[in-house]
Amino acid sequence: LGGSITRALQAMSNATIIDEDVLNECLKQITRALLQHDVHIKLVHNLQTNIKNIVNLHELAAGHNKRKIIQQAIFNELCKMLDPGKPSFTPKKGKPSVVMFVGLQGSGKTTSCTKYAYHHQKKGWKPALVCADTFRAGAFDQLKQNATKANIPFYGSYTESDPLKIAVEGVETFKKENCDLIIVDTSGRHKQQKDLFEEMRQVAEATKPDLVIFVMDSSIGQAAFDQAEAFKESVAVGAVIVTKMDGHAKGGGALSAVAATKSPVIYIGTGEHMDDFEVFDVKPFVSRLLGMGDWSGLMNKIQEVVPMDQQPEHLQKLSEGTFTLRIMYEQFHYMLKLGPVSKVLSMLPGLNAELMTKGQEKESQAKIKRYMTMMDSMTNEELDSTNPKLMSESRIMRIARGSGRLVRDVMDMLEEYKKLTKPMSKMKGLKIPKKGEMSSL
Ligand code: GDP
Ligand code: MG
Repeated sequence: LGGSITRALQAMSNATIIDEDVLNECLKQITRALLQHDVHIKLVHNLQTNIKNIVNLHELAAGHNKRKIIQQAIFNELCKMLDPGKPSFTPKKGKPSVVMFVGLQGSGKTTSCTKYAYHHQKKGWKPALVCADTFRAGAFDQLKQNATKANIPFYGSYTESDPLKIAVEGVETFKKENCDLIIVDTSGRHKQQKDLFEEMRQVAEATKPDLVIFVMDSSIGQAAFDQAEAFKESVAVGAVIVTKMDGHAKGGGALSAVAATKSPVIYIGTGEHMDDFEVFDVKPFVSRLLGMGDWSGLMNKIQEVVPMDQQPEHLQKLSEGTFTLRIMYEQFHYMLKLGPVSKVLSMLPGLNAELMTKGQEKESQAKIKRYMTMMDSMTNEELDSTNPKLMSESRIMRIARGSGRLVRDVMDMLEEYKKLTKPMSKMKGLKIPKKGEMSSL
């Protein structure tokens, strides 16, 4: 999605004059991109109308200004689509809260329940899991396994078939045990769909959740809007978790779910493991969507892996607007250390398109390693230089020989570096948090 919108904006940037036709063409492309990525058609139309209303071409000053205003309008409107205007209920540590998870079978409820519990447990909460899915055989076993792995107390039954009974008993039990986050996992299927919604209504009535979280698989496409709306009609959905954002999902359904439930997305699932769970922030998400890069997200990730006091001065250098080959080398080093390259790369503007192709994480990793091997054959002078003319033919040949690579490979790597220089210079003025100031994820 990011790619196509970025291209649309790029095309607009390349136009010498921004007139009605150029704006229309840009909007047409964005509309197409959004529809292809499963954003509900009604929303896309609204977005288009809003942008046209905001961007009154005749009143705008020439050239540059117009582009900026159009870009800003697109950014703002996408943010607005994802921001229902009111935050969801936030449980308080130490105070018992009941959180009920709803969503269709297979959407990722049970997995997300555990991730949610684990995420809070790491921050000192006392979470607990209740399995009120009595429809699917094996549901309790699955929750039990997850909970045991994360060392989280759980409640459920192999024999009891009444979800209400289990839900109520589970919640009561954990309230007595002073758990402050009691999570109720529910069923996602019934013989009849209307029975499922009735069951959700009853479980909600019996357990009086402080928050109902609707879990949605990001790959369900245009169905997202109606599905979310159907749940919202039977229970008071207050927040959304979008799962499987790691796959080939188009993700546009998230925007639809927010619109249908008028509730914010609070987390996204990015894999099957307990840690594949991220707090959702609208602005960085939209920045990423538009190919503008998510610096704060990247910084948080880097700081998670590398403690602040062990980080070399390269952050300092970046904040001064300097980007050298050595900095690129160190960044590659972190990326490899940070695991699935795709997640990190998607936060870097410029990098994602070139270095990273979805589904080719292995190849990308190999490429990064290859680049690093070549950089190992560079001198300190070369690594720390900010002079683009330094890399003479003879130096390039020496590096190629030293690393057992072709001259072409070295040129490739230098090309990559050159491409990165521009987005990296945007780091200038970056505030580097001091030790202890980091927001722990
Ligand atoms: P439920 O039926 O709604 O409880 O869904 P489950 O939690 O059982 O998940 C269904 C399947 O989706 C399981 O195989 C999960 O491992 C998988 N799954 C859940 N969340 C994610 C995610 O964020 N990414 C990926 N790749 N798989 C997920
Ligand atoms: Mg389940």
